[in-house]
Formats: sequence, structure tokens, C-alpha cells
Amino acid sequence: MGLFSRKTAKVGEEPAPVENAKPVDTTRSNLNELVLQSIHEGVIIVDKNGNIQLANPAACRLLGRSADELTKVYYDSVINLLDKTGQRISEGRNPIGLAIKGNEYKEETRDLDVVAADSNKNTPVSIIITPTDSEGSNFVVTFRDIAQELREERERSDFISTASHEMRTPVASIRGYLDLVLNPATATIDDRARSFIEKAQENSKHLGRLFQDLLDTSKLDDGQIKPRMEPVEIVDLVKNISDAQIPKIKEKGLGYQFGSGSVDQQLSGGKRIEQVIYASIDPDFLTEIINNLIENAIKYTPAGWVTVNVRADNYNVQIVVQDTGIGIAREELSHVFQKFYRVDNRDTREIGGTGLGLYLVKQRVEAMNGRIWAESQQGQGTRFIVLFPRISQEQYAQQRFLLDNQVQQDMNKQKQPTVSDPLMP
Ligand code: ADP
Repeated sequence: MGLFSRKTAKVGEEPAPVENAKPVDTTRSNLNELVLQSIHEGVIIVDKNGNIQLANPAACRLLGRSADELTKVYYDSVINLLDKTGQRISEGRNPIGLAIKGNEYKEETRDLDVVAADSNKNTPVSIIITPTDSEGSNFVVTFRDIAQELREERERSDFISTASHEMRTPVASIRGYLDLVLNPATATIDDRARSFIEKAQENSKHLGRLFQDLLDTSKLDDGQIKPRMEPVEIVDLVKNISDAQIPKIKEKGLGYQFGSGSVDQQLSGGKRIEQVIYASIDPDFLTEIINNLIENAIKYTPAGWVTVNVRADNYNVQIVVQDTGIGIAREELSHVFQKFYRVDNRDTREIGGTGLGLYLVKQRVEAMNGRIWAESQQGQGTRFIVLFPRISQEQYAQQRFLLDNQVQQDMNKQKQPTVSDPLMP
């Protein structure tokens, strides 16, 4: 009986004639064609001039056009992509355009909507672009509808955000009462009770930190907190932030250096920073980043030094936080920026943490168009390097001027009385 036959023969009857049963063409190209026709992902092939060569049915549905309307047409005239503010993106920001021009490959783009021409329906999509050969003669572009995925992510993140917010308050209250019990001015307890309460206090601090980190994670993940970029002179700013950590560094008995030559010499082409360097960043985000890296350096360094350094070439600024601590094994290095990842070994087991700190650091760095990576040798120490695009003095002055103007305008708007009553003068 044919593979696609739906009629079945009853016992004693002649087998029913098979209707519409076509033998399956199992040649490789036909199977490829079948896959392309039946998958849910929209697939188009664009050549190096940007002309669409092929569009499968799912792509036609997403774009709201027939295969005929799509083929042999320049991609930007039929693929309407919007950013999250609802603006049509320019070709300079279009991941397909960037790939064709050979300027940039992004593994995946998840922040764009595609608009169907026949219904104006917006669908959030994940876009993946893969060149078919090393010359980039053609590109396979896949569009996956991620509306459901985004809804679930939002629900998950709302739940974490509400739960951690609600739990922070009772934990703060528990900590307050434990502080009162441990304070000789407010309570009298014996040494045994004190040692128990100190443990409870330590754990409630850990819980408080965990809820705060979870809250920040969910807010950053779903874009509730965004960086407020402003042009800054970065050497002084980094120095001020890291100098504020000196008491904690000293408390652990560690040495501290800012901008010393020791880090510079090991970095290729590094120069001592004596000039002013500008970058566009969010000072609050940067404070969180540097504090977190220094707190880790203190935590994972039993003895020695914490060094903070800023250096730059013509294009980039590097902020380096280095320690002489326990280090990170090579196979762990790529994982430490993952959510909840903690290195588990003899040295780290006793040290408390949530495994969210570096994830948050990376989220914040990337939100400001930066990059972060770590270099380390186990037992020798670790170096975290944060890189941001550098801006020139002219760009700094221009951006400052625009920002100050904006602030002034906002202040003026707030001062003006809002005249909603037509009888008001
Ligand atoms: P945690 O709260 O555990 O410190 P992080 O996300 O900040 O979480 O760091 C992830 C893991 O990376 C840590 O558990 C630790 O094992 C490792 N790590 C981070 N910073 C350092 C450092 N300066 N030296 C050695 N190991 C580090």
C-alpha cells in the first residue's frame, strides 16, 4: 500500500484503490525541497547584491507576499523590519544588509519585528543569517516567530521580579532584628547564642544580596532598566569609583594600586595613562560594574594586591581590574559570565556568592556597547578587562553640549505652568 494512502482494506474486500498516492521522490534535492516547504521557519536566500533568490511558504506568510512577489527583488524593498520603538530600521542597521556588505555577522538578532505587507501584522522574529560559502555569494536568512517565547520570558521575568521584590522586605526586617540582637546596647546574649545569630545574620545578608541580584537580572533581561549614556572623562571617574572601595580592600589586608604600570606592561602596546580619555557610558552602570569586579577581586584573593587600571588606544578604552588571587581554571573561564555559574572547587567552596554578579556585569557592559572578558592563571590571579569605544575630545564636547541643552530644556518644561484651564491668563 502506498505511503500516503488513507483508505484501508476491510477483511475479505478487494484492497481499495489508492487515491492521490504519489510515489515519494527520494532524490536528495527533492527531500531538501520538501523540508523547505514544510518547516515553520521562514527561509529566504539572498545573493550578494541583495536580491532574493528563493522564499519558502513560511517566509511568504511572515512577509505577507507571494513567492513571485519576493523573488528577484531587492530585499530591502519587500522586507519591512521595525525596531522596538516601531521605527523602520535603516539599511545601515539591517542585519541582512550588514551581512551582505561583509561588515558584520551577528549570531542572532532578536530585537526586530517583521511586518507583513498584506495585513500590516507585526511579528517579533529571531533572524539568523548564514553565508552559503566563504565568499559570501549567497546568504540563507531564517526568520523564526518568537512571540510566544518572548511572552513566556516576560512572564518568567515578571514572576522573578515580583517574588524577589516581595521577599526583600521581610529579609531586610529579619536582618534589622538580628542586628539589634547582636548590638550590646539593645540586647544581652551569651557567646553561644551570639555565634548562632552571627551565622543567621550572614545568611540573611546572602539572601538579601540574592534577591537584589535576581531583581536586577530580571529588570536587565527584559530591558526595564536601560543605560543613560553620557560623555565622561573616564580615568577620573574610574579612579573615584575604585578608590571608594579602598576601606574594603584594606579590611581584607590587601594592597591597592590605581593606574600602576604593572598591568600596562603586560598588555600589548599599553601606555601609561597621563592624558584625559573620554567615553560615552552610564556612570551608574559603570559604578555597579567596577564595584562588582573589585568585590570579587577582594573575595577571591586571600593575600596580595588588587589593581585597577585604565588605558586606551585611538579607538577603545580598557578598564582592567586585576588581582593576585586564586585564579580561574582555563576550562571555567568561558562559563563564569553565565547566570548562576559558580566555580566549584576546594578554594571557592567556603566563599559565599550567588553566581549572578558577573552575569549582571556582562549585561551592563553590553548594554553600553562594550565588551568584557577574563584572563587568568589558576593560583596566580585574574584580570577582567572591560572595553568601551573611545570618543574624541570634540565628540565629548559636542555630546556634553547636547546633553546639557536637553537637561536645560527639560527643566524649563517642568517650570512652565501647564495651562489647562482656558480662563487662566
Ligand atoms: P559569585 O557571586 O559566585 O561571586 P560571580 O558571577 O560574581 O558570582 O562570579 C562567578 C564565579 O567566577 C565565582 O563563583 C568565582 O568562582 C569566579 N570568579 C569571579 N571573580 C573571580 C576572581 N576575581 N578570582 C577568581 N575567581 C573569580
